[in-house]
Amino acid sequence: MLSLFQKTSAAHKSYSDCSGCGLCLLVCPVWHRKRDLQHSPQGWAKALQHGAAPGDLADAVQDCTLCRACDPVCPEQIDIGAMILKLRRQMAHPQTAALQGRMAAQARRPAPAHQEKTALLAGAALRAHPALLNRITALLGKAGAFAVAHDDGADISLALEAGVVVPPDRLAALIEPLRRADKIIVADGLLLPYLAQWLPAAKIYSLGETLSSLEAVRRNLRSTDLYMIEPRAYHADYVRLVKYYDRLRRERGCDFNLDLQRIAIPATARGLPQRLGLAMPDDDAQAHWVLHGRSITRIVVENLEDRAAFEKISGVPVVHLAELADD
Ligand code: SF4
Ligand code: SF4
Repeated sequence: MLSLFQKTSAAHKSYSDCSGCGLCLLVCPVWHRKRDLQHSPQGWAKALQHGAAPGDLADAVQDCTLCRACDPVCPEQIDIGAMILKLRRQMAHPQTAALQGRMAAQARRPAPAHQEKTALLAGAALRAHPALLNRITALLGKAGAFAVAHDDGADISLALEAGVVVPPDRLAALIEPLRRADKIIVADGLLLPYLAQWLPAAKIYSLGETLSSLEAVRRNLRSTDLYMIEPRAYHADYVRLVKYYDRLRRERGCDFNLDLQRIAIPATARGLPQRLGLAMPDDDAQAHWVLHGRSITRIVVENLEDRAAFEKISGVPVVHLAELADD
């Protein structure tokens, strides 16, 4: 099984190495909401060290948002994301059959081979906003030939999140058409590290990094903006992206959703029930936490979930990165 995170092999440690330092609590949206050790990596690791069965942790582990903020802060370098996904795989989820059926149906609809050197995997959220997707397509088209992939692996992403094993034929149906692409741009931060492992020869970038690299977008960032980095993609390539966003901060002067350790604080707190549509998102407390103490005039988001969370509570304009570019 491939690790979720791109760490050195020496860094692959497990829950048995948890020292109980509690640093993961400081960045965890689930901990901030529940204030209960049972809903934290520290709590799960300590429970497992003392003989708890995965089923004992089921409800708490399903609440994890897989934002990955806890991973870079862990001084023991425990692969917390891998620990969480392993626990989820050990718990039979009621939606497993539905997710398997969705992947089987998608595997029977193979996508054509990707012809351009750059592919965009737009993801379900962006496809639901065709005007924004068209705008992104126009922007990326100016930067070079590219095409939106027919298959963006939205079903695979959901299965991975739920701990459901992805069948080899479905994985091949996603990967094979992308083999000609040198560069892959991914809107879904969960998929990014997996694609990097499935397609090691390709350069894989998040949509947020790609758009914020464009001068047409970058020059319209203001010093009074709060720029919301999408946490999943950021923490999956943390060491490199800390430097990337630090350069952007110095150049444009905007504020970021980064704490002192340069961990990206998420604006949403969506666990597995919300991802599967079994419970309504309730992001208000998390979004308020991000805004606390800031003086800003606009919020710029890399992903649409953050836009929805802030539009509900913020009172300042909330725009997607792609909307910054001049027409
Ligand atoms: S991935 Fe995010 S929500 Fe899950 S335990 Fe880590 S910090 Fe908390
Ligand atoms: S940061 Fe790591 S070592 Fe510290 S309590 Fe959390 S999981 Fe354990």
